[in-house]
Amino acid sequence: MKFGTKVIHAGIEPDPSTGAIMTPIFQTSTYVQDAPGKHKGYAYGRTRNPTRSALEKNLASLENGTEAICFSSGVAAMDAILKLLKPGDEIVSTNDLYGGSYRLMTKIYGKFGIKSHFVGMDGTKDMEKVINENTKLIWIETPTNPMLNIVDIKKICSIAKKYGVMTCVDNTFASPYLQTPLDLGADLVLHSATKYLGGHSDVIHGAVITKDVKIAEELRFIQNAAGAVPGPQDCFLVLRGIKTLHLRVQRSCDNAKKIAKFLLAHPKVDNVYFPGLKNHPNHKIAKKQMKDFGGMLSFDIIGGRFRDAQKVMKGTHLFSLAESLGGVESLIGHPASMTHASIPKKERLKVGLTDSLIRLSVGIEDADDLIQDLEEALRNI
Ligand SMILES: *Cc1c(COP(=O)(O)O)cnc(C)c1O
Repeated sequence: MKFGTKVIHAGIEPDPSTGAIMTPIFQTSTYVQDAPGKHKGYAYGRTRNPTRSALEKNLASLENGTEAICFSSGVAAMDAILKLLKPGDEIVSTNDLYGGSYRLMTKIYGKFGIKSHFVGMDGTKDMEKVINENTKLIWIETPTNPMLNIVDIKKICSIAKKYGVMTCVDNTFASPYLQTPLDLGADLVLHSATKYLGGHSDVIHGAVITKDVKIAEELRFIQNAAGAVPGPQDCFLVLRGIKTLHLRVQRSCDNAKKIAKFLLAHPKVDNVYFPGLKNHPNHKIAKKQMKDFGGMLSFDIIGGRFRDAQKVMKGTHLFSLAESLGGVESLIGHPASMTHASIPKKERLKVGLTDSLIRLSVGIEDADDLIQDLEEALRNI
């Protein structure tokens, strides 16, 4: 089955009791048993739920995996993965990482004796320097947030295999429509389904996908033991969102390309960070491992002043000032004061995250209107 068919049909069957074409929202905590221990595969809502099972089958298929486990949020999914580790184990991760992932690794798991290293994954040298016999997990994010760096998934995973280390790719920014890390050698894929998979800014949800039956079993055990399960209504919303994933992401990609071109030519705009641009340092890798370049981009205002960035962000009407990404509506954000405020200024500047950096999550509106909106806002400087 091709991707556009999978999003609609994979794992989905008409409800056997009524023929309902849409997977019902099984809003139930428990299931009546025929005899003690004799049930239809469902015993208690924390362990399993039919709406969740349908979504898990669908997600496993989209990522070319065999198993998916859904969670109450992206960070809950990550939390379960980190619970596979034990005190003394170490993690190696990208240095341009989603802030919530950084926080979970350092502030929570640091306390339990799990050490995290953050390195550039442009090449493999920095990573190999910190890998040792305690390294158990390599955490990759690509494209990264907000600098839109690209990590070569295949290359990093092959190094990890050499050392016998498990790899996880946070595929939230790309979505399975654009890249499928399990095909490139990753052991695990993580999603914040809150973003492109849900796609309508109306649900918080997360998932892990793998081909490794043993890891999947461990993760299900952790989930049942610790309890970060999603509600059936939320699973329904993600299933519904996924039906148009390919159309939405393609439209976002097309719009982002047009906007990047417009910004590149604008006299008040300095750098434009978008993997689809030929001058992007990892453009070739992006072209190799992604189907298209995504709907996220960042840009800098000439002069680097926060004041000017503020004028632009206050001046847009279609781009709403908000955290998050991947919804049908376009969002604008200021990483230095919003998503990345906890990172010291000196560290931020090292990776190019200036006070005037603006991040866009390009939605699926008409590109001409989005460009006009930005053009008017840039006039405020
Ligand atoms: C939002 C996000 C997360 C966390 O997901 P939640 O659903 O908000 O818990 C993890 N990784 C990336 C890249 C994200 O953008």
